[in-house]
Amino acid sequence: MARCAGTKRNGERCTMEVSGKQTLCWAHDPAYEEQRKRRASKGGKAKASRVAKELHRLLEDLTQKVIDGELETSRGAVANQLIGTRIRLLEYERRAKELEDIEERITALEQRSDFAQRSRRI
Ligand SMILES: [Zn+2]
Repeated sequence: MARCAGTKRNGERCTMEVSGKQTLCWAHDPAYEEQRKRRASKGGKAKASRVAKELHRLLEDLTQKVIDGELETSRGAVANQLIGTRIRLLEYERRAKELEDIEERITALEQRSDFAQRSRRI
């Protein structure tokens, strides 16, 4: 089998095998760029759930410490406010990312429809 003609980020030749008429693997073929981006945004979701787990643990820990009297209620309250701020920030990031994805998809659709209209006129 032939090797991909792409170059890795470190400058080395890509080691992925390609078949048939392909000269580039999935990671390097520009035709799959949209799919790659979509998959990357799923990676973003995985990160979000990791952060959510982390926040769960932090909240449980703080709650237990306040209950046990290890942490002053005033400090617990401030920590709770800060966690709330972090959650709002995460929510903002998620919405901004979603909007960006939607904008990209609309642009792609507009370009496709422009192209279709032009080819109909000919
Ligand atoms: Zn490659």
